[in-house]
Amino acid sequence: MYSKFAFIFFSSITFLFSNPWEKEKQQMIDTLIQYGIQDKNVLDAMSKVPRHEFVPKAYKSYSYEDTPLPIGFGQTISQPYIVAYMTEQLDVKKKDVVLEIGTGSGYQAAVLSLLAKEIYTIEIVPELCERSKKTLKQLGYNNVFVICGDGYKGYPDKAPFDRILLTAAPEKIPEILIQQLKDNGILVGPAGKIQELQYLYKIQKINHKIIEKKLIPVRFVPMVKPSK
Ligand code: SAH
Repeated sequence: MYSKFAFIFFSSITFLFSNPWEKEKQQMIDTLIQYGIQDKNVLDAMSKVPRHEFVPKAYKSYSYEDTPLPIGFGQTISQPYIVAYMTEQLDVKKKDVVLEIGTGSGYQAAVLSLLAKEIYTIEIVPELCERSKKTLKQLGYNNVFVICGDGYKGYPDKAPFDRILLTAAPEKIPEILIQQLKDNGILVGPAGKIQELQYLYKIQKINHKIIEKKLIPVRFVPMVKPSK
């Protein structure tokens, strides 16, 4: 009897010490479910990716709160609910090649990497680009390729893509990105002239026809035009 309790006690202690963020992470997943996220694959991917590794030291203790957090250079890592919602809308399949615009911390790319074949992700701020490259490499996300540059051009080298995700908001979804979407592909991204009036859009290419759907109001950092 004693040895059974001792075993449970010590294995719980070991579990807690080897997974110090497990409880917070599970609470985050519970919140996502409460807010209506249903896709098991998305929830599963988000329960595997260590968000605290993508958050700067000063904000680590908030890693699993449902809130965006600063990552430097005036940019933010998106709120977990938005990451989950956008990923669910993107309906990623295991064979998919995905383009993300706005790598930021690399967190969204890491979540996508568990659901798709390859992720190409573009970041315009050189320091964030190098930092996210390093984080993703250290954590072993080997199917994520970070490209430093301007997302307005998309990534012609690997186009067309099965899925495209924008995590910064242009005034209007750039035509070039829609052109780089495969037939039967899906693009999800925010757009809007003013930060207070942005919406998330889902654009589907079905039999070469474009079908656009307005989803929910959102607030993203603007997608910036590079200074020439
Ligand atoms: N997906 C990120 C959060 C993105 S924040 C994450 O999971 O952490 C939006 C990012 O888009 C910022 O890092 C910003 O620098 C980048 N960005 C803004 N304009 C861009 C552009 N034209 N091309 C590529 N990246 C851009």
